[in-house]
Amino acid sequence: MDRWDTLEKQLHQSCPALDLRREEPLFRHTSFRVGGPAALMALPASREEAAAAVRIAAELGVTPVYLGNGSNLLVSDEGYDGFLIKTFGGLNDISVDGAAMTADSGVLLSRLAAAALEAGLTGLEFAHGIPGTLGGAVTMNAGAYGGEMVQVLASVTFLDEAGRVETLPASDCGLGYRRSMFSDGKRLILGAELALAPGDPAAIRARMEELGEKRRSRQPLELPSAGSTFKRPEGHFAAALIEQCGCKGLRVGGAQVSEKHAGFVVNTGGATCRDILALIEQVRARVLEQTGVALELEVKTLGIGKGGAGWNLS
Ligand SMILES: Cc1cc2nc3c(=O)[nH]c(=O)nc-3n(C[C@H](O)[C@H](O)[C@H](O)COP(=O)(O)OP(=O)(O)OC[C@H]3O[C@@H](n4cnc5c(N)ncnc54)[C@H](O)[C@@H]3O)c2cc1C
Repeated sequence: MDRWDTLEKQLHQSCPALDLRREEPLFRHTSFRVGGPAALMALPASREEAAAAVRIAAELGVTPVYLGNGSNLLVSDEGYDGFLIKTFGGLNDISVDGAAMTADSGVLLSRLAAAALEAGLTGLEFAHGIPGTLGGAVTMNAGAYGGEMVQVLASVTFLDEAGRVETLPASDCGLGYRRSMFSDGKRLILGAELALAPGDPAAIRARMEELGEKRRSRQPLELPSAGSTFKRPEGHFAAALIEQCGCKGLRVGGAQVSEKHAGFVVNTGGATCRDILALIEQVRARVLEQTGVALELEVKTLGIGKGGAGWNLS
């Protein structure tokens, strides 16, 4: 019996209803549509199931990897020999109390923003088109069009490494540009409270539609991707640098620097993780050589690095 058999057995004994999957193909769980299998994946249907999964893993010395909607994730073709806990699909509740919204980490931002609109609350319009979950968005401090999670976040409830529940005010969560205290992967976000403001539903809807139209016209939403490949370098825009260095449209296998938006690497069909990494390396090398700017990945990677797919992106 290997460690995944042991973990699976203990999880099943403690939580008979917990959805557990062995050798689950991760391309089904990432917006890039790339990635080999995970040794074991749990899809909890409640905060209690999530807590039990973290606690039992900790007791066996296993550190889980947390997954929301996989919209900022590049997974190795070989997959990941580890334990994943996915919140999207199971941790799904939203409640509204005055101008405060409380939601589970697996709720998609699009659904959260729609719920805010329905309640006549403003503040989440920027997030409507970001295809991630609340947990992923808090971890990344996701943002767009002048908005950022840090502007609306009141507090975050999470599990520590041993599976104990904690709540911290947002100001203590280390939120900065595309990072937070959760970026180190050690804690599972269960949910968060958002502080919104009463607003005019017609104006909220109009702003969401305006931003949606901007996205559709500028971003390659018709192809699988993980959004912006690189972080915005200080004083520059990644897409502009990439275009300036002649990388727009550059291809490796099925991976391409989008013709529509050079900040996106897209999967034009059948791209492997290897294709995407090779393309990323080419873009980085050209941009560094021609402009002196070192592009840093915004996309998170899993199962990649020394001994992984043979690339080191650190
Ligand atoms: C077409 C497209 C457009 C995009 N546009 C934007 C944009 O405008 N702005 C922007 O900021 N991003 C954008 N993104 C990137 C992505 O949607 C965001 O980063 C989003 O917040 C990621 O959420 P997720 O649930 O998919 O996270 P995942 O990709 O599943 O995970 C991202 C990181 O968060 C961690 N994580 C996820 N859930 C939890 C949890 N519950 N607890 C602890 N850690 C967790 C993961 O371990 C990982 O490190 C875009 C992506 C795509 C594909």
